[in-house]
Amino acid sequence: MLYIGSHVGFKKEKQLLGSLEEALSYNANTFMFYTGAPQNTRRYPIDSTITEKAIESMQEKNIDYSKVIVHAPYVINLANDKEKEKFDFAVSFLKEEIKRCEQLKIKNIVLHPGSHVGLGVEKAIYNISKGLNLALKNTNVTILLETMAGKGTEVGSKLEEIKAIIDNINNQENIGVCLDTCHLSDAGYDIKNFDKFLDEFDKIIGLEKVKCIHINDSKNEIGTHKDRHENIGLGKIGFTTLINIIYNKRLESIPKILETPYIDRNYPPYKYEISMIKEKKNNPNLIEDIKNQK
Ligand code: ZN
Ligand code: FE
Ligand code: FE
Repeated sequence: MLYIGSHVGFKKEKQLLGSLEEALSYNANTFMFYTGAPQNTRRYPIDSTITEKAIESMQEKNIDYSKVIVHAPYVINLANDKEKEKFDFAVSFLKEEIKRCEQLKIKNIVLHPGSHVGLGVEKAIYNISKGLNLALKNTNVTILLETMAGKGTEVGSKLEEIKAIIDNINNQENIGVCLDTCHLSDAGYDIKNFDKFLDEFDKIIGLEKVKCIHINDSKNEIGTHKDRHENIGLGKIGFTTLINIIYNKRLESIPKILETPYIDRNYPPYKYEISMIKEKKNNPNLIEDIKNQK
C-alpha cells in the first residue's frame, strides 16, 4: 500500500484536527507537521481533547496514525557545543519536543543532525550523539536523522556520518533515518538506480532504519550541495526517478512526504502532486494548472 502525504500546518486552534483536514484536502493518507513554527522554539500547549478527536477520526477513515510524522524545528543544532548554554538549550528543547510527540501519540520525529560550524565533523558527530542520548532518555519516541544536502557545514550528507551518530546511540530502538530525495541527490548520491543506492544504504546503515522518505525534486544537479527543493517532475531528479523511488517494493510500507515549494508562495501544490503520483503520470503544466486551480 502507498502511504503518501505532505508537510501540513499545525495551528494553535485546531491543532491535529486542522492538520488532518488539510491532509485530507490533498487526498493524502499520511502527513508531517511541525508542532509550531519550524524556525523558532515558541510552542503552545497540546490540547488532549483535540488530539483524541483527531485520532478517532483517523481510525474511522482508515488512516494509519503510526505513519504520521513530526519534524523538529530546524533551529536545533546539537552539533555545536561552543557555548554550553546553547547546547543545553538545544537538548532541552528537543526533550520538550519529544514530550509533545508523546502527548500527540506520535512515534517518529525527524531531525536535521546539525551543522559543525567549524568544529569539524568528528567533534560534531560526538556532540550530536551526546545530545541525542540526553534527549532520548526514558521515551519510546524515535528520532529519525535526515540525510542532508551538505550545505555549509551540515553533518549527515554522507551515510557514514549518519552511521557514526547511530552507532553512539544507547537505545537503538530510539533511532532511525529519514531519506530526502533532494538532499541525497544534492549530496552526490545517484538515486536514478535506487536499488543500487538501497544496497549501499543497507550495507552501511541497514535498511530497517528507514522510517520516512521526503519526496522532493531538486532545482540543482547532483552533487551541488544546495538544498533547494523543486516541484515533482520539474527539477533535475525528474518524474520517472521519483516514481521509481516512491513505488520501490523494499520501502513500500514507509510513509512518503512531499516538501515541495508552494506556487507563488501562495498555492500548495500537494493535491496536484499526489494525484500525479497516484496516476504515475507527469504533468509538465503543473504550475499553470495550480495557478488556474484546475
Ligand atoms: Zn527536514
Ligand atoms: Fe526533508
Ligand atoms: Fe531540504
